[in-house]
Amino acid sequence: DEFEERVEQVEQVTRPPVVTIMGHVDHGKTSLLDYIRRTRVASGEAGGITQHIGAYHVDTPKGTISFLDTPGHAAFSAMRARGAQVTDIVILVVAADDGVMPQTIEAIQHARAAEVPLIVAVNKIDKPEANPDRVMQELTQHEVVAEEWGGDTMLVRVSAKAGDGIDELLDAILLQAEVLELKAPAEGPARGAIVESSLDKGRGPVATVLVQAGTLSRGDIIVSGGEYGRVRAMFDETGKPVDSAGPSIPVQVLGLSGTPNAGDDVITVSDERRAREVAEFRSERQRQNRFEEQRGASLDQLFNQLKDGEQKSVNLIVKADVQGSLEALKESLVKLTNDEVKVAVVASGVGGITESDANLAFTSNAILLGFNVRADAAARRVVEEKGLDLRYYSIIYELIDDVKQAISGLLSPIVTEEIIGLAQVRDVFRSSKFGAVAGCMVTEGTIKRNNPIRVLRDNVVVYEGALESLRRFKDDVPEVKAGTECGIGVKNYNDVQEGDQIEVFERTERARQL
Ligand code: GDP
Repeated sequence: DEFEERVEQVEQVTRPPVVTIMGHVDHGKTSLLDYIRRTRVASGEAGGITQHIGAYHVDTPKGTISFLDTPGHAAFSAMRARGAQVTDIVILVVAADDGVMPQTIEAIQHARAAEVPLIVAVNKIDKPEANPDRVMQELTQHEVVAEEWGGDTMLVRVSAKAGDGIDELLDAILLQAEVLELKAPAEGPARGAIVESSLDKGRGPVATVLVQAGTLSRGDIIVSGGEYGRVRAMFDETGKPVDSAGPSIPVQVLGLSGTPNAGDDVITVSDERRAREVAEFRSERQRQNRFEEQRGASLDQLFNQLKDGEQKSVNLIVKADVQGSLEALKESLVKLTNDEVKVAVVASGVGGITESDANLAFTSNAILLGFNVRADAAARRVVEEKGLDLRYYSIIYELIDDVKQAISGLLSPIVTEEIIGLAQVRDVFRSSKFGAVAGCMVTEGTIKRNNPIRVLRDNVVVYEGALESLRRFKDDVPEVKAGTECGIGVKNYNDVQEGDQIEVFERTERARQL
């Protein structure tokens, strides 16, 4: 449509890569960021970058590179959980005297899940105990094979202390960036993401925006999360005031009404009234989400276990749609362990809940938690036979909060979500009047016109919303039962595909029984 046409016409230019540094604790992530920051900044002032604004960029003779200044995969997955894709390249730091360690492996998994290419920096080669060959050997076991060993991963030997290899590392980043063909419109309204934000006593809300497309200028009106405002002033990482920032460049922005979250998107709008409307709509939606989360489905089985006073360990099996969410969930769940209760994730993985998951849940007395994934038919049979506790979630916060609330014994009403109907998409018709209409066979329960729905692909949730239309032959109908064919139009979703499933669900609330 009109907007897309306009976007098409804007000229795309090559933009600098945005890099995140990951790796095991003490392997030298901070040292590497510091070394590059100290030595590479084209700043007139002695001392270079003096401000910590969460990101910085360096100009090298071969090109510009932006670094996110919070190393590690926790921040990376937190941003990803909010939907932000800001990293183009991950630098995996591995200390040559220590080798591949647990967080090295996690970093590899995170980068892979986000489909972001890795460059390995084998650090601390100045140390006598350094053994880069052993590092390469160990990485190979995790399917990271260095180019020099016939693989496709660039690997550079560096010392963040002495500075060896840093030029080569920057070259490698720019080479990888060239392969990625990173492009963005340099002109036009800016889009970006929040890297960090804080409330400054003197200056009010201060946010670092990584511009991802277009140009952000002083005076622009922006919306981010539930906040908005006119860009009153902008500073770069040296503290110097700037008037504008283009794609891949981080800037500190003053003038927002509050502090958005890292990973929130930033958009430019035409006037302040519109900005306020968008921001208010968003914060209202956030409030509603929070409200629902607080009422959220609670783990009554878990609660009962705790009430008995015998069970001191809570076992969970967690399945999720992507690695990033899974890692974030696991990290938060194990942190809930306290003196009285041990929270143990006995198994976890990416993908739908299978029969073997259900069997394991039975044998280990675990609760099955599905995050944006569903149990297949065989798994559901086991759940029913054995009376297992199976819970579905689509909001990380909601899942964590449930477990937390149950542990601390808070009595919120129990909201249960029941899936009342399931339809198999057999065929998709496209009409100019109705959009995509899915020709379906109802396989279980009843499809009801006015209930909320989700679209599942290979047992993974790809859309949540409502029905636009429910038809039997040419007639609009309020419901369709199992064994019957029908036509389903999903509101605002035209990507329904043959083989998808459409589930209809119902939320009910009841007081918790003591
Ligand atoms: P991080 O936890 O990954 O951010 O690691 P740090 O950057 O804090 O480094 C951990 C320790 O290793 C510090 O004492 C650094 O001084 C040291 N270190 C980092 N890089 C090097 C290096 O290249 N050579 C040597 N010898 N020590 C290093």
